Amino acid sequence: MAPLTDVAAVASLQLWHERLGHVNVAGTKRMIKSEDVDGLECSSMVVKDICEPCVYGKAAMTHTPSAGGVRVTRRLQRVHSDLGGPMSEPSRGGALYFGTFTDDFSRWTDVVVLHKKSDLLPKYKKWLTKAQLHTGDKIKVLRSDDGGEYVSSAFKALHDESGTTHQTTVPDTPQQNGVAERFNRVLVDMARTMMRHKDVDQDLWADAIMTAVYIKNRVTIRALPVGKTPHELWTRKQPDASHKRVFGSACWVVLQKSHVDGTFGNKAAKGIFVGYPDGRKAYKVILDDGKVVEARSFVFSENNSSMVADVPEESPVDEVVQGETGLDASGDDQDVDAENDGGDDQRDDGSDKSADDDQGSASSQDTPHGATERGGLRSSTGAQ
Ligand SMILES: [Zn+2]
Repeated sequence: MAPLTDVAAVASLQLWHERLGHVNVAGTKRMIKSEDVDGLECSSMVVKDICEPCVYGKAAMTHTPSAGGVRVTRRLQRVHSDLGGPMSEPSRGGALYFGTFTDDFSRWTDVVVLHKKSDLLPKYKKWLTKAQLHTGDKIKVLRSDDGGEYVSSAFKALHDESGTTHQTTVPDTPQQNGVAERFNRVLVDMARTMMRHKDVDQDLWADAIMTAVYIKNRVTIRALPVGKTPHELWTRKQPDASHKRVFGSACWVVLQKSHVDGTFGNKAAKGIFVGYPDGRKAYKVILDDGKVVEARSFVFSENNSSMVADVPEESPVDEVVQGETGLDASGDDQDVDAENDGGDDQRDDGSDKSADDDQGSASSQDTPHGATERGGLRSSTGAQ
């Protein structure tokens, strides 16, 4: 088929607001104007009077907590952590909790999803190794509440070994562990808003939380100096937003030749966009048959019109990577280098296909009305 071009890169302010997880409109405007983030090309400054998902999800009413107390001067000097959950429903990978690790200096956050609270320690251990490798620095202080999962003797032994001071705080005291606690609340609000917007299944909460973290790391936040994003302070590179799309959107993934069924088989498969894989500019998609794939090229339906998304990449990459094995392999091991919010839930993706039917109906309402210029894809509405 003809090469896809990225006609969706330019979008209205409203669409950027939606792509960025319904973050604060004024902040989005400022980022566009001062070019704090690459690729935020805006066609018009139009926004809806009332953004319904924001009203329901309350994303507009929360913001990332500002830095209280003494400002740290380097990465990993102080890290905040808090546990969220249990959720009312397990994620599609079976998780009930999520934990965050937020670097105070950059406000870069990594998120892990957990089946049970005691899974936090091994996840933290892994995170710590990677974070220290990435920054070349050692963690000095870990701040959390005194929940049992943080004060176990195994955790204490790890702190002793790594020379970390563990500061425990009383829950709900904003001056103390406020950063992590409030950040987790922001994440849940953001995830709720994104899920509400596209009416996706509840078991996609972990995907929504991971996407929320991915976005939060790549937008300017009040806690940081004006115009700075966590991404820039953590990785020393300005983030690029051009590939962002609206969470939960319907999309059609272009299949590799080897996956097309015979001469007249569908050349694309329908699915729902659920986030960004670790460390790669690509999209994580749950196809209507339940398979999770990683894609670089596809047709998107963010509103009621379809658009082509095509992530530019220096090296040639297959258009579709089979998710069950591909994500398994990548999920846990590539997360540190900055873009790592996605790994943990993906491990279990392959085994959980129960949400298939619901996802199909949830996304069908977004079926584009005019995919005409991509005739090759029209026969591909995933109804296999
Ligand atoms: Zn909104």
